[in-house]
Amino acid sequence: MIEIAVIGGGMAGLAAAWRLHRRRRDVHLFDAGARVGGFVDTVRTDEGFLVERGPGSIRGGRLAMKSLIREVGLEDALLLAEPAAKNRYIWAGGEIQRLPSGPKDLLTTKLLSPGGKLRLLSEPLRRAPRERRDETLGALLERRIGPEAVASFVDPFVTGVYAGDPYRLGVDAMPLVGELEHDHGGLFRGLGKKRGAFGSGIYSLTDGLGMLPGAIGRALGERVHLGASAVALERIDGGTRVVLRDADPIDARRVILAAPAPVTGALLATLGVPAQCLTHLPHAPIVKVELGLRDADLARPLDGFGLLTASSSPLPGDALPIMGVIFASTVFSGRAPAGHRSLSVMLGGVRDTGVVERDDAALVAQAERAIDLLFGLRAAPVMRRVTRWPAAIPQYPPGHLRAIASLGARLPAGVRLAGNHQAGVSLDDVVASGLAAADAI
Ligand SMILES: Cc1cc2nc3c(=O)[nH]c(=O)nc-3n(C[C@H](O)[C@H](O)[C@H](O)COP(=O)(O)OP(=O)(O)OC[C@H]3O[C@@H](n4cnc5c(N)ncnc54)[C@H](O)[C@@H]3O)c2cc1C
Repeated sequence: MIEIAVIGGGMAGLAAAWRLHRRRRDVHLFDAGARVGGFVDTVRTDEGFLVERGPGSIRGGRLAMKSLIREVGLEDALLLAEPAAKNRYIWAGGEIQRLPSGPKDLLTTKLLSPGGKLRLLSEPLRRAPRERRDETLGALLERRIGPEAVASFVDPFVTGVYAGDPYRLGVDAMPLVGELEHDHGGLFRGLGKKRGAFGSGIYSLTDGLGMLPGAIGRALGERVHLGASAVALERIDGGTRVVLRDADPIDARRVILAAPAPVTGALLATLGVPAQCLTHLPHAPIVKVELGLRDADLARPLDGFGLLTASSSPLPGDALPIMGVIFASTVFSGRAPAGHRSLSVMLGGVRDTGVVERDDAALVAQAERAIDLLFGLRAAPVMRRVTRWPAAIPQYPPGHLRAIASLGARLPAGVRLAGNHQAGVSLDDVVASGLAAADAI
């Protein structure tokens, strides 16, 4: 019998396994796929571009990820975003507009009417309801900053982070928002008090985020078992039996489940633990279309992190929607060969759920049409790569975190959960959930 089995080798499971391995615990990691990393997957194309097939950057945030990178010995590979990445753009009202970066910009932005600005800036005057409500993010923010600001700022932001809809996501998707209202009496007031409490800056690694799962996988060595798909769990004397597809079962004293929500929910069901908050958790699809271009082939400069689209503002003509574009080679150096640039066009999300059914040619055409309309495409790209993620981002409904806490209290002894279904979908959040599961097991 092994001491600890970690099921799922995405960043949550890797963080858990790494911490336990460092503490000299007898830990083994089982992943259904042919590599570790889950969504984190960096490739170098034949044309010389560095492409992130999944996530492309990490935001300061909780700092769990940055500590992990240091512990693993990749500190020298940390790569900060270029200064130009502080500019962000929004497609709204039929034009590209710069996102305000401070109160002065808010007064002059064309993204809000004078009434909309007044409604936003009077947010500190609005009282919080006595009791916290299980409401949607859109409903809470509309109460505080008004419908215009939700449509112009929150909607594109929620598209960029969750591929979601603020009026369907619960406040649990961004617990900070509820906390600011209830514990500090408002968003502006709370943010003022919390200034400096969050890590800042956007970063990656010199050869892409894939360096991190690669390094942890190498450190774990033979303790990583690939092509190992867990299909059921059974209680046995002194622990849990993990039944694997096409392989002998593994007996472990303790188990960390770090697989996607529906898989984790199904595994818990085999132990007699119902987990509807996992099995029924909806997910939004994302398709990433990476385009490599010669410098001269775009009419407009890409001087920023990227552009997001507001759902109220379709692209002109018959162009199919895109969620946004990340100016990948502007954000980080070393992503495109000299004289070239690269873009990640994000398609799908809850606005376009049929996206994963389209063939590559249709997806590339959808992405190129949008880039042409937005930035003026003068010649065909020299590199194109399509990656489909049918279940990319969990869409936390109202009350999700309460349901997760209640599930946590019902788990059998020696079983813990980690992953993007627990307490946030960012890499920082999932690493934090993996480390917490390792501490608790
Ligand atoms: C396109 C895209 C872009 C993103 N961009 C960003 C970004 O820029 N910044 C950011 O912070 N976050 C971003 N995210 C979110 C972030 O990448 C994810 O939330 C995070 O990687 C999830 O990690 P995880 O370990 O919870 O799950 P996963 O990465 O899904 O890992 C789960 C693992 O479980 C394995 N598994 C599945 N079934 C079984 C089974 N039966 N038995 C054993 N193993 C199994 C899978 O093979 C997989 O390796 C992005 C996500 C996507 C999809």
